[in-house]
Amino acid sequence: MHGLPARQTASHAAAAPAVPSGGTAMSIVPSSPDARNGGIDRGERDERHLARALALARQGYDEGGCPIGAVLFELDTGAVLGEGHNGLVQEGNPILHGEMAALRSAGRMANRHRTTMVTTLQPCFMCAGAIAMFGIPRVVVGDTANAGSDETIRFLRARGVEVVVMDPATSAAAAGCIALGARARRERPELWLEDWGGGPNPALLEAPPRVDSWDSVPMPRPRED
Ligand SMILES: [Zn+2]
Repeated sequence: MHGLPARQTASHAAAAPAVPSGGTAMSIVPSSPDARNGGIDRGERDERHLARALALARQGYDEGGCPIGAVLFELDTGAVLGEGHNGLVQEGNPILHGEMAALRSAGRMANRHRTTMVTTLQPCFMCAGAIAMFGIPRVVVGDTANAGSDETIRFLRARGVEVVVMDPATSAAAAGCIALGARARRERPELWLEDWGGGPNPALLEAPPRVDSWDSVPMPRPRED
């Protein structure tokens, strides 16, 4: 990433910086909950799973941790495949974000091509990378207000992933996610920052990109004996 550091609004000045993912700060227009629903009322189902993810996030916060929860559910039936919350404090594990906890809970699967990942907070690049790698076609997000940039949403959408940003005006769960994230940034700013890797590395922000595209990377072929 070589964008500008995340910006803070005046109202956030006393709190921890928004998710410091290093991109430019942009507002994200919430999606309609039932956008591209394919005839299924996904709005109600998304709300129910987001409410469960929020309950897990609150549990994690009450345990002294970072308040981020996630649910992985089966796209066609709505059945929960896995769920969990951030485990940085509880397990001393910096890679156990909410989405990773849900993936761990779901365990082994031949593939995850008919699933939806529901997360209380906009995915970081680690989790967006896992979503992309596993071919998860759909992501539901409760809170983008406490993220510093929209770059992971753009990353996922550029790969064909449907990203539904729940609207706090119509989603009580989304409103709860935003309130909880704001509270954590206010009450545990150092923990919030640690969970996001301490903020952008200034050396990387200043470094020029080394490659312009994957096409420019030499790819040695394996030997055929
Ligand atoms: Zn993450």
